[in-house]
Amino acid sequence: MVTHPLDSPATAPTAQPIRNVLVFCGSRLGRDPRHATQAAEIGRTLALHGVGLIYGGGALGLMGEIGRAAIAAGGHVQGVIPRFLKEWEVAEPLCDDMTVTDSLHARKALMFDRCDAILALPGGLGTLDELIEVLSWRNLRLHAKPVWLLGDGDFWAPFLALMRHSVDSGFAGIDTLSHLETLDGTDALAALLSRP
Ligand code: AMP
Repeated sequence: MVTHPLDSPATAPTAQPIRNVLVFCGSRLGRDPRHATQAAEIGRTLALHGVGLIYGGGALGLMGEIGRAAIAAGGHVQGVIPRFLKEWEVAEPLCDDMTVTDSLHARKALMFDRCDAILALPGGLGTLDELIEVLSWRNLRLHAKPVWLLGDGDFWAPFLALMRHSVDSGFAGIDTLSHLETLDGTDALAALLSRP
């Protein structure tokens, strides 16, 4: 049997200081009100740790909650929004910086370039697309930025089960799962941000 080249062990990434976290999350609030509360808590946590927030820049849904909470707590907030979504998803007027891109692809690339770590909160197809893209880049060894998942009510359990199924079926390397760290709450995020 031929081994896949990506099944050889990857060199462990060196820990980089975390100055800016890219957050992927829903442009809707979702049904469970805990998601909005948690998004706002995370916005405040980033701000209180002096860590910048990079996000899609929309004022709706969980994006709106995290952005406004980080701004209110004195954090540095950068939004990156495609021109065609500026009105539709209501670009947050209070961001320190709002970059308007020509496409979703340009938005994702720019947000990714500017960040030191990625955090995914509950969301819909856009959030899943963004998460899977950075995860697949990590799998292809194009970067070594941490990818964290956080979500109340076991939101990510079905996603993790699908990833495990892909690994168990022999379609994804075992590293796929080790590239993802599930955080069990805002305190766990705070602990990571407090590391020297
Ligand atoms: P959602 O999780 O679907 O609410 O989307 C979160 C953000 O991702 C929103 O700003 C969406 O406009 C955006 N989005 C939706 N679809 C995609 C996609 N295919 N690629 C990148 N971003 C997307």
